[in-house]
This record gives sequence, structure tokens and C-alpha cells, in this order.
Amino acid sequence: MKSLETLGADGSHWLSEYKDVHMNVFGTPLRVLDHGLGSHVWDVDGNEYLDFLGGIAVNSLGYAHPKWVAAITEQAGKIAHISNYFASEPQIRLAEMLIDKAGAPEGSHVYFGNSGAEGNEAAIKLAKLYGRTMPGALPKIGGKQARIVALTHGFHGRTLGALSATWKPDIRTPFEPLVPNIEFATSGDLRSMEDIFSSTGKGRYGKGPVAAVIMELIQGEAGVKAMDPEYVKGVRALCDAHGALLIFDEVQTGIGRTGEWFAFQRKDLSGGVVPDAVTFAKGVAGGFPMGGLIAFGASLSALFTPGSHGSTFAGNPLAAAAGVATLTAIQNEHLMENAEDRGRQLRDGLEHCGNPLFAGARGRGLLDAVQLSHPCAHAAANWALEHGLIVNAVAPDALRFAPPLVVTAEDVDACVAVLTKMPTDLKND
Ligand SMILES: *Cc1c(COP(=O)(O)O)cnc(C)c1O
Repeated sequence: MKSLETLGADGSHWLSEYKDVHMNVFGTPLRVLDHGLGSHVWDVDGNEYLDFLGGIAVNSLGYAHPKWVAAITEQAGKIAHISNYFASEPQIRLAEMLIDKAGAPEGSHVYFGNSGAEGNEAAIKLAKLYGRTMPGALPKIGGKQARIVALTHGFHGRTLGALSATWKPDIRTPFEPLVPNIEFATSGDLRSMEDIFSSTGKGRYGKGPVAAVIMELIQGEAGVKAMDPEYVKGVRALCDAHGALLIFDEVQTGIGRTGEWFAFQRKDLSGGVVPDAVTFAKGVAGGFPMGGLIAFGASLSALFTPGSHGSTFAGNPLAAAAGVATLTAIQNEHLMENAEDRGRQLRDGLEHCGNPLFAGARGRGLLDAVQLSHPCAHAAANWALEHGLIVNAVAPDALRFAPPLVVTAEDVDACVAVLTKMPTDLKND
């Protein structure tokens, strides 16, 4: 693989400066990027790439979308930041749009944060407040702390609360002990979920009732693995039977990515199940940092009261204006239809390209992956990069695709053409 060190003088100069001043949490950057347009991006040495990662499902409108640029520019010239002692028009409009797009019931409310992890932090805190209202739970005398259930292979972020609900042992264990009373059910196995709901063991803080289940409908970081709708229906039924909340983490799947505003609106993912709360982030502001939580209905929303939660930047007008522009363009430019069509084109192209390296494509809309016949995803992503295509090794044996929702049919053909030529004898380091 060619890292920046083997590139031209310009790129390698930036790389050594990068290393001098940044903590090494992301490894060595592959390139130093300079500018982009649509689904195309250029590095500081002038090399062009077709971007099928989109900043990991963030750049919904691609790079430098004129409406998005205009919205941010105009807002920056008016008012960029205010404290939460005040409100701004874009923040109110975006909250209204999100509630509307989610089809959330009358009385639903939004909390804005700045990232996916922060959306999930808010959800976990809300679930904890909800837990305290349940029969048998704190703060009653003799009450026990309610529990939260997450799924194996799930990913919810890296702040300590979100990390507590994130499964991957490598990234969890160095930071233990984490938030107590979060338990993991085996993903896709309803019996495992039932066992947790019915367990009443002694647990360090006592095994109280289950307050909430938090889960993804497509486990993105786990390799783009879709849930079985029958399983989701079963989880909903368990939550209903026990009075627990069902929270969908739609940080990666939300805001048009799977061909609907939210993945739960796809029956082939949710089986028609409606959650009690949804978290969102990545694509919501088209590349501006923003995330948050939609609580469905008035009573759940009312659990947060002044002081329960907050952030200095929450609902920042610039981020909110970027969000309004992003949702408006997704609507007006029919980008969810495009996500559905281009996603199918991509998966069909990969299934029929004749390269034996590819053993099946999966996903919905423009959140997709291709299974590799052997574990060579890192080598494959590096090979693609050298051939002008950005994709991501989401698992040792799978590549992930999350291109901008504006990606064209020609872009998809070009992506498939590069991958078709990929050598079959690649190996991971
Ligand atoms: C990316 C992601 C997060 C974390 O979002 P950050 O903005 O990186 O904090 C949480 N949940 C899911 C499903 C994600 O894909």
C-alpha cells in the first residue's frame, strides 16, 4: 500500500506535520484531501478519487453542494452561534422537519447534540430517567436500578455512556468499569433477549426491570448486517410486554441513507415496528457536525426537564441551517429514490461483475457491503485507493459503501469497473 510517505513531497510534508501534532487514535492517514465536488474528491497532490465512503455516510449531498454551501454561508453571515438561553429559526425548523420525516406522533420532541455518540448519550440518559418511573425500580425504597439492553456486535459510539452499550471488547475493555446495568443480548436471537428480560439475579446494583433496548436496524460497523424483521417484531413485543422503551440508533442508517428517511420506515428491516425514540447524526447536516435524539410522544419527551441534559453547541444555528439545507435537498432532488436505485445498481453490479473475489453484496439503499471470498478487505481497500476509488474495510472480509446520496449511475458504473479488475490474490498484512 502507498501511504502518504510514498507520495509526492507535498502530501508527505503534511503527513509528518499531522503526526507531530495529532494523537494517534486514527492511525496513519491515507491521503491529505484538499477539495471535492459531488462524489469526487482531490488530494493535495492533485490526484482524483471517486468517493464511495462519503466521510462514512456523512456527506449526504456530496462535496460542495451549492444549496448547502449557500445555506451555511448565509447563516454564517447572520448568526453562527448563540447560547441555549436563546433560540434560532433554523434550529426550530430542523426539529419540526425531523419529527415530520420520522412520522413521530403528536407531542414528540427533539434534542440536538453534536455527534452520534451524543445522540446516544441523550438516549441512554432518557432511558435511565424512564427506568426510575418503572414499578420495582429506583428511586422507590427497595427499588433497583433499571437495566438497558444492547446487542452483540452493535456500535453506539466512543464516549463512556455510548461505549457502555457498544459491544466490541477491544474498544470497551480498556475503559472498564463502564456504565453499570447495560447488558448484551445476542443479536438476532430472541431467546437471548427474553432471558435478559426475565432474569432477576443479584447484579451489582440489583437487577431491576429493563428500561430500554437500544439497537441498530443495520449494524453498520459490524459489517452492514441487516436485522431480520421478525426479530425486530419480537423485540418490540418483549418491550411492550415489559413496559420497556425500544430505541433505534439510526446514526448511520437515518436521513435517507437506506432509501427512506429512517430505516425503521422500511418494512423489510423493521417489519413495520415503530420505536419509542430514534437517534440520528452522520448524514443529518451533510457534513456539518450534528446529532441528536427524537423522543416519540409527549410523556417520554417530558422526562427531560431544565438541567437534565444539554451542551453548549446543542442546536447551533450553523449546524441547524446545514441540516435544513440537507433535508430540503434530499426531498427536492429525490435523493431517497436515487439511494434506492443506485444501491440496487451497485449490488447488482457487484453480484454480476464476474470477479470471484466477490461472494455476495448486501445492504439497503446506499449503505452496502460486499462479502469477500477470503479476508483481504484492508488490502482490497488500499488497492482500490491506488486505483482512484475510496471504499472502506468494514470487516476483515467485507468492504463497505456509503457514497453521497447524489451519486450518479455513471459513478456507480465507474466504481464497479474498478472493483471488477481487482486481483483475486490480495492478502491482508
Ligand atoms: C458512527 C456511529 C455512531 C457514533 O457516531 P459519532 O458521531 O462518531 O459519535 C453511533 N452509532 C452508530 C450506529 C454509528 O454508525
